[in-house]
Amino acid sequence: MGRNAGVLVVEHVAAGLVENNQIAGSVKVFPEIGDSRDALLSMPADTIAAKIAELVLTLGGGASLYAVGVGFPGIIREGVIEESPNLQQIKGFHLREALESAFASNGARVSVRVYNDADATAAGIAATRGVLHKLNRVWTLGSGVGFGRYPWSPGAWEGGHSVVTLDPKENFCGCGGRGHLEGILGYRAMRLRFLDLEPEEVFENAKNGDTRCVDFVTRCHRALAAATATSIHMEGPGPFYLTGPNVNWIDVGTLDRLVHDMVKMSPLQGSRFEVIPTNDDLGVIGAAVNAANAVSA
Ligand SMILES: [Zn+2]
Repeated sequence: MGRNAGVLVVEHVAAGLVENNQIAGSVKVFPEIGDSRDALLSMPADTIAAKIAELVLTLGGGASLYAVGVGFPGIIREGVIEESPNLQQIKGFHLREALESAFASNGARVSVRVYNDADATAAGIAATRGVLHKLNRVWTLGSGVGFGRYPWSPGAWEGGHSVVTLDPKENFCGCGGRGHLEGILGYRAMRLRFLDLEPEEVFENAKNGDTRCVDFVTRCHRALAAATATSIHMEGPGPFYLTGPNVNWIDVGTLDRLVHDMVKMSPLQGSRFEVIPTNDDLGVIGAAVNAANAVSA
């Protein structure tokens, strides 16, 4: 088996070679730090694919690359991006095929696999902690709310769109659905809810006792606990990791208590939360680990 590479696409593209569940060498990024962070938003799908392939080829694995895994935001099926709310232009695009032919035209026969970005992060957490034999779930808190799991398993797994309230006025989710977790905890949704305050100010004001903000922060925790409780009731207990740019707004102790109130059946007890500071490496490692497993299977 040759070397594997992992790619994570978020607001930017990060790529690295992965050996023994670790990054080998350095992670390369496009657009580079300091360049416009919005470059991907206006980029056509085939240009995004070409940029990803170019970045991977600069890693130096070249012809010896065995598998390349890509973590991409959205619903992915068989290498096709079926839905990607923040990169609409890529909806319906066969990313796996585009990347494999880009590598082939550079003389590299490489197998590519594409995963949801949060699934890649879950695999990276499992791999770096040596818990690849267990069920690992992750919430990523950013503009939207991502849900990932390892082991990878086919399905939509859009846990961020779990319905956590029956209130018909809860309609801030980017997907348009009512009552969704992301409609409460997503950054974009918070901006729509508090037209007079930025999300950062909401959490700051809550610390100072502002009633409206305190109520909202409580609601955020109850919503995340509710979606987690649903996952536990469907798939059983286990560790839930929290990561992403807005993870510092969550109090793990409060979340543990709330879940404890929501999950009472004794075989389903024993879940716990852990915060992992946001970083690209986990998604890069996880995408490569998932791809290498899939290609060798
Ligand atoms: Zn939604």
